[in-house]
Amino acid sequence: MFDDSARRLKNLCNLRNLRIALINLRIANMKPAGIYIHIPFCRSRCSYCDFATGMYSAEAAERYVLALVTEIESWRVVDTPQTVDTIYFGGGTPSLLSSGQLETLLNAVYKRFTVASNAEVTTEINPGSVTKETLAAFRSLGVNRASFGAQTFDDNELARLGRCHSAEDTRRTFHHLRDAGFRNVSFDLIAGLPGQTMAGWRRNLDEAFALAPEHLSFYLLEVHQGTPLANHIRTGLQPRPDEDLAADMYEAMLDRAAAAGYEHYEISNLCLPGLESRHNTKYWTAAPYYGFGCSAHSYDGESRRWANERDVLRYMEMIASGCTPIVDETRLSEVDRRAEAVFLGLRMMQGLSFAEFSRVFGADLREQYQQDLTRFREAGLIECSGDLLKLTRAGALLSNEVFAAFV
Ligand code: SF4
Repeated sequence: MFDDSARRLKNLCNLRNLRIALINLRIANMKPAGIYIHIPFCRSRCSYCDFATGMYSAEAAERYVLALVTEIESWRVVDTPQTVDTIYFGGGTPSLLSSGQLETLLNAVYKRFTVASNAEVTTEINPGSVTKETLAAFRSLGVNRASFGAQTFDDNELARLGRCHSAEDTRRTFHHLRDAGFRNVSFDLIAGLPGQTMAGWRRNLDEAFALAPEHLSFYLLEVHQGTPLANHIRTGLQPRPDEDLAADMYEAMLDRAAAAGYEHYEISNLCLPGLESRHNTKYWTAAPYYGFGCSAHSYDGESRRWANERDVLRYMEMIASGCTPIVDETRLSEVDRRAEAVFLGLRMMQGLSFAEFSRVFGADLREQYQQDLTRFREAGLIECSGDLLKLTRAGALLSNEVFAAFV
């Protein structure tokens, strides 16, 4: 009798140790996490924007920062959060925050999470929204990367987009960033604007490359229903964007960037060697990221995604009343995870490894998606190179059609 109990106890202990060992192994295998903090305020609303953002007021920003601190400090959504090696302030216009507010938020993150000493800390910055002194203060707080919303260097195009800055503001703020010690700056550029010509786009590229940012994100304009821009186009106030011309602009951008030594590492992103956005890369490589603030999204790196309340006032009310701001949660099935691995992984121009897919999912990517892969290869949208499956340039332009097959 005693022997039986002792054996059972020993087996239980072994089982428990095995489980702990497996959990530790899983944690050790997981990639470091990123923190995303959403700042939902802007000075004015751009005509194409459908982001979760509202008008800036000092009082609302102060209340919102306090709500964010409460959310970060009381956050228990993941039992064993990963070490954090990127922090990203996005929006909206995070550069409307004071340096004191940014410091308060960073302190809350450092208190709640283990942050790597070499963490990439990015803030989005809108031209003309921030002084030289504030940028220097951001830099001294450890912000070491700026994502800079240039969009276009043509003042008429900026006005048509409802942007509240000029091309000169962009140049000036860029030089302020350099003076403040920012050595890792990314520009956002938008191609395919209503009325934009190829000559105009090439002038934009001349201006952007003359400033030599370390990173470039470029987007083809999307017209979202319900935005002022959609109405302008519907009523003929602005011409409908020309999709074929936008595709040519994409090609021109890639050629120009390659000639200047930039690497095209993701469908919409280019960088000087080694200066990929470490934070954004997490979104495409199934690394965990934890989002804070209204409309922020999160992923635990395995099978769980969740999203916060989108409306800023409702978000602050939920935090004030001690409720979780999470309003949506998805458990990914094995099938979902495989599909995500394909359509997110294919965004990276280096391609998706057949061997890695098989190691993670115990399945053969070629067999699982045989028909779609054959169809896209014949259409010239994907190519296989050794162990890698990649989008071609044409595939990068038509990526939504490729990805739809895997969703
Ligand atoms: S600055 Fe960005 S977030 Fe703000 S309104 Fe313009 S596009 Fe939207």
